[in-house]
Amino acid sequence: MLAYMTQWDGRYLVQTDSFYPSSNRCHACGYLSDTIPRSVRQWDCPDCDASHDRDVNAAKNILKAGKAVGTGADKLREHEKTTAGHVEG
Ligand SMILES: [Zn+2]
Repeated sequence: MLAYMTQWDGRYLVQTDSFYPSSNRCHACGYLSDTIPRSVRQWDCPDCDASHDRDVNAAKNILKAGKAVGTGADKLREHEKTTAGHVEG
């Protein structure tokens, strides 16, 4: 999986690759499970009992990682507004 978040002017770029344990880390409590086979779509965290959809959990972890390195969530929202304006225009 390759995912990135970028600001309009390109000053901020957050990139995670397949080595980032986004699928098998509980986004709720941070528990890191053993590698989960790709065939497993749903798993429960043994630590906090949260139930995870593999992809949703991974997406939340990547978002968290992006925020953690200081992308600035408010700036990303500005970027999204700008982009939406272009699409509508
Ligand atoms: Zn958990």
